[in-house]
Amino acid sequence: MDNGGPLILRIALDTPLRRAFDYQPPADLPSAALARGFRPGVRVRVPFGRRRLVGVLLETVAESAVEPGRLKAALEILDQEPVFDPVTFDLLRWAAEYYRHPIGEVFAAALPAPLRAGQAADGRIEAWVPTEQGRRELASPGDRRAPRQRALLAWLSARAPVTADDLSAPFDRSHLRNLASRGWIEPIERPIAAPSPAVDAGSLQPSPAQAAAVAAVTATLGRFAAHLLHGVTGSGKTEVYLRAIAASIADGGQALVLVPEIALTPQLVERFQRRFGAGVVALHSGLGERERRDAWRAAHAGRARIVIGTRSAVFVSLQRLALVVVDEEHDASYKQQEGFRYSARDLAVLRAQRAGVPIVLGSATPSLETLENAAQGRYARHSLPQRPGGAQPPRISLIDMRRVASEQGVSQPARAAMTAHLAAGGQVIVYLNRRGYAPCLFCMHCGWVAPCAHCDARMILHRRAGQLRCHHCGAHGPVPSACGACGQALAPVGQGTERIEETIARWFPTTPLARLDRDTATSRGALEAVLARVRRGEARILVGTQMLSKGHDFPEVSLVVVLDADQGLFASDFRATERLAQSITQVAGRAGRGTRAGEVLVQTAYPEHPLLTRLIGAGYEAFAAAAITERRAARWPPFSRLALLRAEARDAAGLDAFLRAAAAAGRNLAEPDLQVLGPASALIARRADHFRAHLLVEHASRAGLQRFLGAWLARVEALPGPKGLRWSIDVDPLEVD
Ligand code: ADP
Ligand code: ZN
Ligand code: ZN
Repeated sequence: MDNGGPLILRIALDTPLRRAFDYQPPADLPSAALARGFRPGVRVRVPFGRRRLVGVLLETVAESAVEPGRLKAALEILDQEPVFDPVTFDLLRWAAEYYRHPIGEVFAAALPAPLRAGQAADGRIEAWVPTEQGRRELASPGDRRAPRQRALLAWLSARAPVTADDLSAPFDRSHLRNLASRGWIEPIERPIAAPSPAVDAGSLQPSPAQAAAVAAVTATLGRFAAHLLHGVTGSGKTEVYLRAIAASIADGGQALVLVPEIALTPQLVERFQRRFGAGVVALHSGLGERERRDAWRAAHAGRARIVIGTRSAVFVSLQRLALVVVDEEHDASYKQQEGFRYSARDLAVLRAQRAGVPIVLGSATPSLETLENAAQGRYARHSLPQRPGGAQPPRISLIDMRRVASEQGVSQPARAAMTAHLAAGGQVIVYLNRRGYAPCLFCMHCGWVAPCAHCDARMILHRRAGQLRCHHCGAHGPVPSACGACGQALAPVGQGTERIEETIARWFPTTPLARLDRDTATSRGALEAVLARVRRGEARILVGTQMLSKGHDFPEVSLVVVLDADQGLFASDFRATERLAQSITQVAGRAGRGTRAGEVLVQTAYPEHPLLTRLIGAGYEAFAAAAITERRAARWPPFSRLALLRAEARDAAGLDAFLRAAAAAGRNLAEPDLQVLGPASALIARRADHFRAHLLVEHASRAGLQRFLGAWLARVEALPGPKGLRWSIDVDPLEVD
């Protein structure tokens, strides 16, 4: 207990500094608060330079490196109770260590903005309504006292019940207290929708495979167990989640469901709400700040029984977590690619482990890491080999582009198949993972290609927008009318989705067509609109990038054409082939989900490439088995652990010198089983006028890599670098570029 020594608050503040900050407790703390002590996980408002920041109390300590006399006092303790459940609080501290990221930014990533600004967290919603006296006051015009208070009273009466968070400037909580002290308003407990148990228990008869998976998961409720649910697209994985969740929340538990994309959530959330009624909340970046805050509070307070969220929802506070589900666990969007580079999938497993609850990882195309975990017996594996209701898996075949005629990148056989499927009333998906009109603007005369002035990259032609755009730095400009070198005419070479759309519209002038890529889905509404048009059958052909490979259920799609499988075949990244196999399998899975038989055509100039023949001939699992063997031989993850130190600067020589010094510092540590590779230039060696390069660190074990990083990064931080140098560390990088 309190030994009479000084008590110091160690606080995580949202700053890029890799440390916590020490403060004295607030000066005028009520004795009740003092008696309660300072609980780690409560928020504290502190002075920071000229600003006031809200941070999270990590711990109390007896001594600080700062002289006692120079420690500032915190201003206010904002919470009585921690704003995180204990497991999540520890998980965040662990993640800051593991991913080597400033702890204040880690905690900030876990809280919705209004909570970071100090709004109430406890979910106890204090709502206000006018009293009888208040109504009389309003009804008696002519009284001119306290005009502001009266204005607030009128506003409040019109929309009661009102909470302090509903107020906007200049009004705040203190004005409500003022009205209350006049007897004009009174607090009520705002009625909270009680979560109803299963509204619709589900009329479907689960298949034997589904029933077995549900039974296996529910048998592990109350303890940690990881389950891989490997089911082809449309095989009924969601149905398994729903049933396992129903069991997990039956006696008051909460379930956390992670999904990769915001695009998937509306349909999925609806489906959950149909089954479970109220008590289902969504948590993703497409929400407004208030919606996010309210969803977060509902989760924290236990009013939400099921939280469906994207990546950062892995950090939502759930006091009664009973089950975790990660849908499409292979999806790259679970890894944050900038700033705090965490893997929500990996952290979800850790969270389940620490909370002592089961986790279900579902996918039609599990990551090689997860498959290996299952092979080693760490994850239990359940398969859903068939689609329910007799829907057949699609027939996949390769089109050898060297042997067939094609126009604008679309082969004759693909065109013929489109004609046939459209005539039979089916819908068609055409997949090309490259947006824009053409990937380069080329001079036939001298070979000049329009470059980006700021990157080592070509400008992409966006014809409809009348622009050349760089997909790496965002630079854009008008389309030049002539070659920049010799003045001859220029021609667009290659295809992007915009050009494919144009070509196909020419072939099928009366067939309504939609395009889905980052240029058309500029907002959530636009994305929804395109998906709805396809779902309603108004658009018969859908051209798009990988955005359309994700989870969408379009029952009338009978043909999928993959225009260019070759982009991923020869890429340098060690995960490139895994990604390619996953996207082909996923996009192929859009075909034949309803009663129509599905057909998938994959165009390639390398039809004998072993990756493609194995994938098409024997399926994703056979591909994965071979890919795992290759990974093991090459000592790539999961057979080693990686960290990537990325750096960029305007001065190429200075950048190189910095990375060489960093590499030398690492090698000097003489950690056994560790390799420091590089420096190597990034694939796009110059982007936005900055040169980019990296060091790759590889270790046989996770613990060894962590031990090394601790010692190494302290040295790297002390190294001099060129002006404007920026560097970051990526632990378990998804791409080594
Ligand atoms: P996944 O999540 O694997 O893509 P879903 O759970 O969405 O698959 O199921 C695909 C379709 O099959 C949905 O329309 C769903 O209602 C239906 N379905 C799932 N399980 C069954 C079942 N046991 N019997 C009949 N239809 C089912
Ligand atoms: Zn030229
Ligand atoms: Zn650029």
